Amino acid sequence: MKNLLTIAGSDSSGGAGIQADLKTFSAHGTFGMSVITAVTAQNTQGVFAVENISPDVVGAQIDAIFTDIEVDAVKVGMVSQTEIIKIIAEKLKKYKFKKVVIDPVMISKSGYHLLEPEAKKALIEELVPLAYVVTPNIPEAEELTGIKIDKFDDMEKAAISIKSMGAQNVLIKGGHLETEATDILYDGEKFHYLKGEKIPTKNTHGTGCTLSSAIAANIGRGLSVIDAVKGSKEYIIVAIENALQIGKGVGPTHHFY
Ligand code: PLP
Repeated sequence: MKNLLTIAGSDSSGGAGIQADLKTFSAHGTFGMSVITAVTAQNTQGVFAVENISPDVVGAQIDAIFTDIEVDAVKVGMVSQTEIIKIIAEKLKKYKFKKVVIDPVMISKSGYHLLEPEAKKALIEELVPLAYVVTPNIPEAEELTGIKIDKFDDMEKAAISIKSMGAQNVLIKGGHLETEATDILYDGEKFHYLKGEKIPTKNTHGTGCTLSSAIAANIGRGLSVIDAVKGSKEYIIVAIENALQIGKGVGPTHHFY
């Protein structure tokens, strides 16, 4: 059994965050563990409140796991604040842990700032350099790089820029493109185009969380980055095609065991 850890925020509605990550880990036949960075009150219609966990307790959760259990891969999602980012980076360095997938979560689909704007600098300087794979969507890649993305060329430029921040592999997700959902993976040498079509559904809550935790699970299982990403793309397509129409708003992706 491979042991997977998510360091992320809780979504009370179960569609995104820690809950999506743990479901994804289970669906990949791995054992899921969680370090909670924040508790959100949310449902399919929006985020209504956030309480961040103190950096000390975030650090203590990480210590509790790494001092006792062998970890095969880590996914980092919602990190909220500079001090939380700093403690996560400090601990990952302390335990010399390298298999880290970072989903640079910034703003929810409903428009809530899950990363405080002033923490963007720490995300870029402290966390992105620790990424084995970093998985921004187009708005996040634009925020990280300042590059306006309209076409594949721009995605490639943004990938080079994010790679130069220290990430080893950059996956820019094309779900926000107008006509297709093609992603680009850049490993510093080559751009791999992962073609995808738009899936006609409004129920896409938690897609980013699910994809990044699937990549972490696949890396933890020993797959190469390209195979991990390809397998995760297949997984997210099925999860979106089977998304649930629950609640009054944007329903969650669905996981199969
Ligand atoms: N809530 C939490 C805790 C998250 O980590 C995320 C995204 O990473 C979201 C909500 C946003 O989900 P979405 O934008 O898919 O609705």
